[in-house]
Amino acid sequence: MKRVASAVAWAALAVSAIWLAGPASAQERDFSKVQIKTIDLGHNTYRLEGEGGNITVAVGTDGIIMVDGQFAPLHDKIKAAITKISPLPIKYLINTHFHGDHTGGNGPFQTDGAIAVAQDNVRVRLAAGTANGVTGAKTPPVAPEALPKQTYTGGSIAVETGGRKAVLTHANNAHTDGDTWVYFADANVLCTGDIMNNNKRYQTIDFANGGDIRGAIRATDAFLKIANDDTKVMTGHGPLATKADIVEYNAMLKTVRERIEKLVKEGKSLDEVIAMRPLKDLDAKWAANDEAAIAYLKMVYGSFHRS
Ligand SMILES: [Zn+2]
Repeated sequence: MKRVASAVAWAALAVSAIWLAGPASAQERDFSKVQIKTIDLGHNTYRLEGEGGNITVAVGTDGIIMVDGQFAPLHDKIKAAITKISPLPIKYLINTHFHGDHTGGNGPFQTDGAIAVAQDNVRVRLAAGTANGVTGAKTPPVAPEALPKQTYTGGSIAVETGGRKAVLTHANNAHTDGDTWVYFADANVLCTGDIMNNNKRYQTIDFANGGDIRGAIRATDAFLKIANDDTKVMTGHGPLATKADIVEYNAMLKTVRERIEKLVKEGKSLDEVIAMRPLKDLDAKWAANDEAAIAYLKMVYGSFHRS
């Protein structure tokens, strides 16, 4: 009986986590006022801010590599901003993970001729569709042209054009089960995707889709090995970050993991953990409000109960 009750509770939590992880669907948003801001990172590499995940643009001598594509309705504005940087074609659009605020541009950019590149679980999740727990609405599978045309399963691969090289590395089970982080060594630009943010807030762990705080720690440990004090860190959301921001975020993750894992090992239920509020001192800094603090507890606890 207890097993059944707990399975039901987990199903409910998994659904709410999808809601917490996912932005409002593109159809519900008004993109008319969004402006794309371009920031020069040096070495023919640029940061684009609009609505949704931050975009990185690396210009080679014969084409462009782009990391993340925000929402489909922003395609024309994003493309116009990139054309101002360079008239060369966008050859590759790298997806850091499947969430729609990062992959929405796949369809229109691939129709233009770009090849979307992702870890294979991105393709699987986009092809299958996901669910919105609050409204009960499902996000349908994306159109075939929006599925990444090139995928890899693990380790690292290189994507190159016109003298620019992006090294893509799969982070197992971090923000989702399909995370890729990207390093442009020539420009010393590191793109973390949503494994971390630089809003100084807890970052969503989409454990219902394979996310796990332990993977986020492994990935941020890897970032710290690659980054130096001059590295420009492009987090999925928030302003441009530095190695010091990774250090701070990584330390927070480790403290959180230690406290929650201990309670999980003691057999505490999710309700008991929430009642204890074991992250209260951290919440003051990292949680936007009480709801976000509780949501983060659920997501970290859920990391240890992934099915
Ligand atoms: Zn995300």
